[in-house]
Amino acid sequence: MDRKQFLSRSLKTAAGVIFVPALLNEEVLGASSDTGRKTPGAPTPSAPLAFSQVPLPYAFEALEPSIDKLTMEIHYGKHHAAYVKNANEAILSEGVLAATEEELLQHASTFSAKVRNNAGGAWNHNFFWQVMAPGNSAPPAGKVLDALNGAFGSFEKFKEAFTDAAMKRFGSGWAWLVSGNGTLAIGSTPNQDNPLMDVSELKGSPLLALDVWEHAYYLNYQNKRAEYIANWWNVVNWDTVAQRLG
Ligand code: MN
Repeated sequence: MDRKQFLSRSLKTAAGVIFVPALLNEEVLGASSDTGRKTPGAPTPSAPLAFSQVPLPYAFEALEPSIDKLTMEIHYGKHHAAYVKNANEAILSEGVLAATEEELLQHASTFSAKVRNNAGGAWNHNFFWQVMAPGNSAPPAGKVLDALNGAFGSFEKFKEAFTDAAMKRFGSGWAWLVSGNGTLAIGSTPNQDNPLMDVSELKGSPLLALDVWEHAYYLNYQNKRAEYIANWWNVVNWDTVAQRLG
C-alpha cells in the first residue's frame, strides 16, 4: 500500500476526526521551501501544529479496580501532559512544519528523537484514553467480533495473541490492534512509536492500544504486567473500536 492509499484508508477510518490534508493534492507535491524541517512535498501550513490533551472521557477513578485513580491522575496529568508540552516545544524550536498530527507521525524518521518521542507520546495517550471506558465491558459483538473471528479464529485467540504481544514488548512500549490491507494485525512498538510512523515495523490504522510502560501500572501492580493486562480487558471500550473499524 503506498502512502496515498494509506492516508486515504486511515482518513476513512478516522472520518470526522481529521481533515484531508492538502498533501493529497497532486499539484502541491514537490512544492517545498528551503527553510524549516517540513515534511517532504507538504504545503506550508499557516500555523505550527500543536498537540493538545483530549479531555479524559471519564473520571480519574472511573476505571477502578482495573486502573487505580492515582495512576490515572499521574498518567494523564503528568506523563501525558509532559509529552504534549515537550512535543509542542520541539515543533516550535525545530521549525517542524506539518499540517496534521498524522502527517507528522508519517514522517517521524525526518525529525529529531525529541519530536518523534513526544509527538508519539501525545498522540498515543489521546488514543489510549478513548479506547477505555468504565464498567465491565461486554465482549465485542457484531462487526468487531466478525473481524476478530476472521483474522484470529476467535475472540479468545485474539485476546491471547494481543496479550502475548503486550507481554513480550521488552521494556517500554505499546501493544496494538491495527487494520490495513483489508485485514487486522496485532503487534507492538517500542517507546512512544506507533503504527502510523514510517519508522514502525508494525503499520496500519490503529483500532486498539495498550500502554505497557511501567508508569501505566506500577503503582498498583508493581512488576505484574500480566495481571495489569488481564484486568485491562474489563475496561476496553469496544464501541470505540467498532467506530474506528468503520
Ligand atoms: Mn503512558
